[in-house]
Formats: sequence, C-alpha cells, structure tokens
Amino acid sequence: LDLKNSDLKKLGDLGQGNGGSVEKVEHVPTGTIMAKKIVLIDAKPSVRKQILRELDIMHECNSEYIISCYGSFLADPNICMCIEFMDKGSFDGIYKNVGPLPAEVVGTVALSVLEGLTYLYDVHRIIHRDIKPSNILFNSAGQIKLCDFGVSGELINSVANTFVGTSVYMSPERIQGADYSVKSDVWSLGISLIELALGAFPFSDPPDDDDCSDLEDYPGHLQKTPTHRDSFILSTKAAKRASKRKSKITLGPDGGLTTMSIIELMHQIVQEPSPCLPEGKFSKSAEDLVNACLLKNPEERQTPKDLLTSPWIKEIRESEFDIRAFASMV
Ligand code: ATP
Ligand code: MG
Repeated sequence: LDLKNSDLKKLGDLGQGNGGSVEKVEHVPTGTIMAKKIVLIDAKPSVRKQILRELDIMHECNSEYIISCYGSFLADPNICMCIEFMDKGSFDGIYKNVGPLPAEVVGTVALSVLEGLTYLYDVHRIIHRDIKPSNILFNSAGQIKLCDFGVSGELINSVANTFVGTSVYMSPERIQGADYSVKSDVWSLGISLIELALGAFPFSDPPDDDDCSDLEDYPGHLQKTPTHRDSFILSTKAAKRASKRKSKITLGPDGGLTTMSIIELMHQIVQEPSPCLPEGKFSKSAEDLVNACLLKNPEERQTPKDLLTSPWIKEIRESEFDIRAFASMV
C-alpha cells in the first residue's frame, strides 16, 4: 500500500502521548480505517530514511497479539505510521471508564501480552521497551494487541522529547542503568496488571489517615470511576514518609509523573518491596504470576516464554470466559 498524507482523511483524535499524537483516519482510495501516529522527530534526512527502513520490520510482524502496520512515511518534520485501528482503544482508557477490571480480563491481558512479547522476541529478536496500559490495545472482536514496540533504535534516539524513555513502568535494573532485556518488559507487565486490577496506578497518593486497613476492601467488578480508596501504595512506610513531606504522586494525562519527583519514585521502585495484586479478588495462581513478574532481580525473573507455561495462564486458556462480551460492555 502506497500511503500518502493526501489520501488520508482525518476522522478524529485518538490521543496524545509524550512523543506525538494519534488520529483516526480513513484511507480514502481503499476506504480503510486506520490509526495514524504522528511523531515529531529531530533528525537529519539520512537518519529519517534509516528510521523508515527500520520501521519496515513492522510489516513483517504477523501475530494476532501485535498491531499490524499499513506503512510509514515522512511528513516533515514528522514521521507518520499508519497502523491497525483498535476500536476499544487502550487499557488505560478502559479502566478509567469502568474502574478495576475483572480478574478474567486481567488474566486475558496477561496471556495476550506474554504471547505478543514471546512472538516479538522469538521471531524478530525485538524487545518491546514500553509495556504499559496505553500500549495495550483492545477491539470489539475481543482481541488484545501490543503497539509502540521498539523496532527502530534510530526512532528511539530521535524523538524530540527528552522525557521519552523515562517511564514509571521501568524495572529496577533499568533504573540502575542496565540494558533492556525481555525481562524488563516482564516487570512493566507486572506493574500494568496491578494497575488494571486496581483501576489506578499502583504508585499513587496515600490516603489521608495513617491507617491503611481500608486498602483491603476493594470495590467489586466494573464499578464506575475509581475512588481514592482504590489507590494502592507501595508500602505503608513509604506512604507515611511521603504524606509527611506532603509530596504527591500524581500522574499526568499521559501517565507521566507531574508533582512527585521522578527521582523519588525511582528510589521507591528500587528500594521498597514490589507492589502486589489487591487481596481477595485474585486466585493464588494469579498472585504468583504477578509476583513472578515483579521479582527485583532480573536473574530470578522468568522470560515471557517461561511465564506462558505458568498455572494462571493455563487456567485462562482453558476458561470459558467471553472476552468479546466484555468488549461489548466497554
Ligand atoms: P506515550 O507517548 O508515553 O507512549 P501513549 O501510549 O498514551 O503515551 P501514544 O502512543 O501517542 O501515547 O497514543 C496516544 C493514545 O492513542 C493511546 O493512549 C491510545 O489510547 C490511542 N491509540 C494509539 N494507537 C491506537 C490504535 N491503533 N487504535 C486506537 N487507538 C490508539
Ligand atoms: Mg503509545
């Protein structure tokens, strides 16, 4: 497909991230609905061409767990990528609408992300590098797919925003300067699964009182708008310290930290015990998988492929849960 900007009719905005924005468009000659990702880059013409070559790998990705790509082109000073449109959007938007997600949905996300990561790594030797709810997309067919994976090293280097790459989903070893590995993606998956289960980012404002017992009564399935009580804190100690200093941990619309310093959060990720699933709502096998994702030592943490054989994933594969019925509700 020879894509040109002039053939694309904008139908609406899908969202804005750190590196650019995403629009819903129609490719008029074929009538295909697509998502057009526009990334502002700061690079010489030769590097721009290199980025386009690297992005070509996306065409070779054929998996039901990976977003498909129609093509990429330069539209100075941007690079545009036209990808499969997912009509239910990303999982951050979904939980913000419906509240904490049911265990079966969280499990299906875990299964799909692990399948996607295993495909990317085994077939293309690609490490995703940016696993988080906004990069896990959903459609009304009940499919769950990954987008925004690190196919292009040059693109990662050229995005014209210095905060790209500093993420609250980053693993302890990455914070401490180690290179990315597939296991860093597994950490980010663990944080993302807790976020979906809580309906809130796991590192957030502590409740006003010092008593954290109210963190135990989590609301049931699919309630509207998560309340303050859904917020989960890394540890009581850290929360008390933070509230004493009146420091706030707030996430901006893009999931970026706004008022709490990135340094403070990074310190928590490295020093404090890893977060865990809310008590009572999940099976032991689910808790085991999430805890396995959040082992601090990457040597001990399993790869996505290993985790695909874990008991919870087997249970999810065998369950009769109808993810399409859930899709019709969100
Ligand atoms: P960041 O820039 O930090 O990675 P992000 O993932 O939210 O944050 P973008 O990748 O620019 O930023 O995406 C913006 C929003 O567009 C996403 O949150 C998602 O809801 C929506 N979006 C992206 N791709 C698609 C798609 N293929 N179909 C439907 N919606 C999409
Ligand atoms: Mg994204």
